[in-house]
Amino acid sequence: MENQKRKRHNQLKNLESEILDLLIIGGGITGAGVMLCATEQKYKTLLVDQGDFSSGTSWASTKLVHGGLRYLETMDWALVFESCKERKRLLKEAPQLVHELEFMFPAYSGQRRKLWTIWLGTWLYYFLSFFWNLGTPKKKSKAQSLRLEPGLKSDQLNGSVLYKDGQATDSTLTISSIHSACARGGHALNYCSVTRLTNIHEDVKHIELKDRISGDTYTVKAKNIVMAVGPWTDSLCKQWFDQKQDRIRLSKGVHIIVDTQEMSQKRAVAMLSPIDGRVTFAVPWEGKVLIGTTDTDETVLPHKVEVSDQDRLYLLETFNHYFPQAKLGITNIISSMAGLRCLIQSEDAKPSDSSREHLIQTHGTGIISIAGGKLTTYRAMGEEMMGKLRSMNRLQNQKPETSEALHISGNLRELVKKDLTASSIDQLIEHFYCTNIEDLLARRTLHLFIDPNRGRNWVDLVAQRLQHAFDYSDQEIDDQKRSYQKTSGRYS
Ligand SMILES: Cc1cc2nc3c(=O)[nH]c(=O)nc-3n(C[C@H](O)[C@H](O)[C@H](O)COP(=O)(O)OP(=O)(O)OC[C@H]3O[C@@H](n4cnc5c(N)ncnc54)[C@H](O)[C@@H]3O)c2cc1C
Repeated sequence: MENQKRKRHNQLKNLESEILDLLIIGGGITGAGVMLCATEQKYKTLLVDQGDFSSGTSWASTKLVHGGLRYLETMDWALVFESCKERKRLLKEAPQLVHELEFMFPAYSGQRRKLWTIWLGTWLYYFLSFFWNLGTPKKKSKAQSLRLEPGLKSDQLNGSVLYKDGQATDSTLTISSIHSACARGGHALNYCSVTRLTNIHEDVKHIELKDRISGDTYTVKAKNIVMAVGPWTDSLCKQWFDQKQDRIRLSKGVHIIVDTQEMSQKRAVAMLSPIDGRVTFAVPWEGKVLIGTTDTDETVLPHKVEVSDQDRLYLLETFNHYFPQAKLGITNIISSMAGLRCLIQSEDAKPSDSSREHLIQTHGTGIISIAGGKLTTYRAMGEEMMGKLRSMNRLQNQKPETSEALHISGNLRELVKKDLTASSIDQLIEHFYCTNIEDLLARRTLHLFIDPNRGRNWVDLVAQRLQHAFDYSDQEIDDQKRSYQKTSGRYS
């Protein structure tokens, strides 16, 4: 395998001598969507992330590719309609990464949502899906519901409604999208920070980059810049463009992952929290159950957001209410994750009532930021950004390579959760951008989140292959092991 430090250096040196059509800052799902669209249209594109790809919000979602049944309540019709369309498109474009999932929405006496309102809601959802629906909803009696989910609380159960949505592992989808865009001629570097923007009012902007692996700095030139930095948007816009006020509001969403036999693993279950009536989900994920989410205003910096005991207890209490025999406690939690939603500022709305639409801002000619939106709509958001740049006459109109649906490679999916060998680790390093132990055991193979042992068995082998690939010193490798140890403690 080529020395990976040298490979990064050569790549950045070559890029220094070109003028890029587009530099994308931020390698979460939004940046990945813009990159897919730009490379599909053959624009010279570089995407950089200050940390690992999908290490921001795009590994902490509920992992649903969905229209958003919940958004019917806030009457976000357009968002539901577009999301359903995108759900169908992703099922077609990324069949190894996105699949259909059945949902059960049980109804109980005394709850705000009656069986008939859920039934009506799912039909409305179905009609809004239009040509892109995944089948009609089905009403089930109490007995039928309990046959499907025997662990479900039977007391006061009136029945349930079954409907379908989609599911994808967010980090796998993000990294696979970046991988597919690179296969189409794009360039992507993680652990590469933007340290300075100059010439921002000129036709060609200069961007100073710091490779955080080697510590070297480079200056690349680009005609356009798209900032897809999610919860970092306000702080960077204040720093770079003299923005005075916050435009987005951050809301923390927590999930816990548990191992329980009380749920069948065949479908997700929607639960109205007995604490505040919010809709939460218990979703089968990678052989475990993902429970979430919370929705509370947050003011800490994105990299400091943490799961509190209160968050954990809220989710455990909700699950135990619906699956009383589960009797889950804090010690049953395999891992927990917190992410920050970007909601468009509105003074009075509660976080859960705020719109999930995205916010696009122009910061001078050829510089645009995008924040918010959904995992589900990332392809459409990417297309919107490219359309916006074209409408500003910032890009030549280029025809997509093909008018057929783009195929997003599912190769990474084959390495998820698998036992690791020297050869599979090398593959992950060389083709899927792993630079350290956590990249590999967390966002590529998911061992950190779903393995109670956190993939510790693989740490030495992974460290050895990384040292070989990057020519890391013994000290650097020891630091990585220590850092992984610390990180794995944080996820419990
Ligand atoms: C709890 C929760 C549950 C959700 N569930 C769902 C769901 O089920 N389905 C759905 O469709 N959507 C869901 N969403 C929404 C979805 O997850 C987000 O909209 C999406 O992940 C945001 O991606 P992003 O790329 O915009 O931001 P992020 O993923 O946060 O990416 C921003 C990136 O920018 C990088 N960055 C920041 N500053 C710099 C810099 N100076 N230089 C370089 N890089 C920088 C960061 O390192 C980061 O990787 C959920 C969101 C949350 C919080």
